[in-house]
Amino acid sequence: MDNGIRDTVILGSGCSGLTAAIYAARANLKPLVLEGHEPGGQLSLTTLVENFPGFPDGIQGPELIDNMRKQAARFGAEFMTAHVTGANLSTRPFTLNLGAAEIKTRTLIIASGASARWLNLPSEQALIGHGVSSCATCDGFFFGGKEITVIGGGDSAMEEALFLTRFATKVTVIHRRESFRASKIMLERARNNPKIEFMTNTIVDEVFDVSKKEVTGLKLRDVKNGKVWDFPTSAMFLGIGHIPNASAFKGQLEMDEDGYLKVRDYVHTGIPGVYASGDVADRRYRQAITAAGTGCMAALEVEKFLEEQGR
Ligand code: NAP
Repeated sequence: MDNGIRDTVILGSGCSGLTAAIYAARANLKPLVLEGHEPGGQLSLTTLVENFPGFPDGIQGPELIDNMRKQAARFGAEFMTAHVTGANLSTRPFTLNLGAAEIKTRTLIIASGASARWLNLPSEQALIGHGVSSCATCDGFFFGGKEITVIGGGDSAMEEALFLTRFATKVTVIHRRESFRASKIMLERARNNPKIEFMTNTIVDEVFDVSKKEVTGLKLRDVKNGKVWDFPTSAMFLGIGHIPNASAFKGQLEMDEDGYLKVRDYVHTGIPGVYASGDVADRRYRQAITAAGTGCMAALEVEKFLEEQGR
């Protein structure tokens, strides 16, 4: 860093940002990692990770992330609890706004990931933290001995439902279609669990009971025949996917219709010196290992870019 200008700043401390940090730190670039709203990213909210190479018995997500963070810190990466609210990428060095403060940097790696998607019903939003949750690992414990629901038909929903059977007496998975997006193995595991029941072609119209500040039930609708009914439940866990955290770059970087950053040659955005890695730019693979892989690529590109600039 000279004149307060950083060589590189990494947005996000999930496995993509931390892998970028390990590589950039080992290249002596003293990267600054801005940890964002959800430090550690999605892995820090998960349980056993069985498909990250190198761990034949699996590893807990938070432990994997903690290991990566220590590894990056060992080589000189710095960490700051901050969230980028805006940026100016049209002049160099780039400026990142962090509320009242700002940071200037020659290169930028955007590894800000994607956040849980909500149904966006007013009653759902009012009951977040009171029986509505997007994180089974965080909140499942509170519903021991209760009957609860999980919304979604992908791997996240299956994983949440399976995890929640540790606490709940019954978990009902509510999915809006007949067929599932979840992988065969996850769906089978959920189907074979005696505590899990499935309800398909069904959507949530309302979450009860906002006046009581707790979840007591759901108003459900069968999308095929329009039938509406009340379904008693003590909690609603969302497992309906994620939204990329890239809104700070709207108008400056190209995005697809859902807000994912568009990249070419794996990690290049339209601005030389600005790279995107991990889930913020990946709607296709979205795996820990692919996020780590593109984080590595982004750091190597930063190194090459700075070298070409004579640094
Ligand atoms: P996903 O595959 O995109 O599935 C999202 C699910 O939520 C879909 O079933 C979708 O329904 C439903 N949904 C979306 N918006 C909805 C809405 N407004 N109302 C009701 N339902 C809605 O997302 P994901 O399950 O989070 O998985 C993302 C990626 O991570 C995948 O590649 C997955 O394989 C991976 N993953 C892997 C594991 C594992 O291997 N252990 C665990 C978690 C995630 P439709 O099907 O109708 O669109």
